[in-house]
Amino acid sequence: MIKVLVVEDDVQLVRALRINLEARKFEVETASDGKAALRLAFARKPDVIVLDLGLPDIDGIDVIKEVRKTSGVPILVLSARHTSEEKIRALDAGADDYVTKPFSMDELLARLRAAARRGEAPAPSAEVSVVTTDDFSVDLIAKKVRREDRTVRLTPTEWHLLEILITNPGRLVSQRKLLLDVWGPTYSEHTNYLRVYMAQLRRKLEADPSHPRYLITEPGMGYRFEG
Ligand code: CA
Repeated sequence: MIKVLVVEDDVQLVRALRINLEARKFEVETASDGKAALRLAFARKPDVIVLDLGLPDIDGIDVIKEVRKTSGVPILVLSARHTSEEKIRALDAGADDYVTKPFSMDELLARLRAAARRGEAPAPSAEVSVVTTDDFSVDLIAKKVRREDRTVRLTPTEWHLLEILITNPGRLVSQRKLLLDVWGPTYSEHTNYLRVYMAQLRRKLEADPSHPRYLITEPGMGYRFEG
């Protein structure tokens, strides 16, 4: 049973989350402020944390930083804040993904499952060597991509980008993380690089590059691979 810690001060929302999560066989713990969240995160070792950023005592971002000092537990942020800057701060502090309020329960559950799956698999690339979609397959060990029985030639940069996204299925990877991992710290603001390289990858992999099915853009935020 997956143990979820829900950190949220909105009583109505906590109740709705508890009912929906318990109905789907999650074990639910709740905290209504940051201090209780940190105590439970430490004492109860949840499998995944759902965290509201606007808490009455400690800023949600600081809760993430504090949890990250001792734990790699997946954290899914609930954000009522509309600026992407706030979400990027949360991701940079160590959150795994976010859902913007108001959200549908289905969306939250999908994100929660993806986050929990990630928590279970410490090194996804070591376990999954070939990722197959309806349109192409990626062999992460041989570093080969095949589409319609032909090998797709990728540049090292394209490969590196694809590899990061594919080993984080369903999960938002921030622009900053991609730029940092692929190009290095001095390029962290060069989001235009990402646009160019993602367009190339889509041309090579997507059936309809202008309406991507696998390599999804989250405007202003980052990219997500949907398998
Ligand atoms: Ca709140």
